[in-house]
Amino acid sequence: MTELAFAPSAITTLPIVGAEARFPVRRVYCIGRNYAAHAIEMGHDPDKEEPFFFQKNPNNLDTSGQFPYPPESSDVHHEAEMLIALKSGGTNISVESALTHVFGYGLSLDMTRRDLQGIQKKMGRPWEIGKAFERSAPCGPLHRVSEVGHPDQGSLLLTVKGEVRQEADLNQMIWKVPEMISYLSKYFELAAGDVIMSGTPSGVAAVEKGDIMVLTIDGLGKLEVGYPRQAPNGTPVLINGVRCPIVGRVSMDMITVDVSELSRVAIGDKVILWGTDLPVNEV
Ligand code: MN
Repeated sequence: MTELAFAPSAITTLPIVGAEARFPVRRVYCIGRNYAAHAIEMGHDPDKEEPFFFQKNPNNLDTSGQFPYPPESSDVHHEAEMLIALKSGGTNISVESALTHVFGYGLSLDMTRRDLQGIQKKMGRPWEIGKAFERSAPCGPLHRVSEVGHPDQGSLLLTVKGEVRQEADLNQMIWKVPEMISYLSKYFELAAGDVIMSGTPSGVAAVEKGDIMVLTIDGLGKLEVGYPRQAPNGTPVLINGVRCPIVGRVSMDMITVDVSELSRVAIGDKVILWGTDLPVNEV
């Protein structure tokens, strides 16, 4: 057996509706500008473009239902998308046979640091800093093809704070699911565990801290993503292995010491002054 220098990071897995087993994720491909109205709102001509893809990291997928506002940005946008999960792959897959590789479908949000992406676009640089950050792809469980078929039409709706932001029909996708798979497989070797994010319709806009995003797609249920829940005072949490009750919070803006320093101080006092931006895990 190969000896590893240290324990490897856990692989990302997605829950499957109606099954105990989980879906192990290999790669994450995201298609850009796949709805005409969205291409136009971003300043492009949808008739002139070949499909294009970028990637997120597998562990950017997050099924916690929480989206902590990411650092170094003040303009974070939601992009409501369908997730396509593959059970097999290959190269040069034909459009006709592409759907035989699909394991299932789910709901996802391609969260984007639009301000940072905009700077990269202007400079002709890669988009990772805008797209592939921690927890940048909140998603729901997968629905197997045996349960939901291959959704190619039906409503996609995203509300934020109860207001409709993105509303479209899956049949408005410029590049359909079989075409995306076939096109990708010309450039990459697709494999079981790969997921594809379908691209987003128009209506992308900024989210604020505390916003609740609710995405529904016909037949694929509902994904609700909120800001990390604030456990009430008195809730025990683990800080560096020590169990302490939360007795109060301070805003990160008021903290001048490093967070690890703050935790250390807190343990000594059995008192937690915790940044309001930090999610805590109840124990
Ligand atoms: Mn997108």
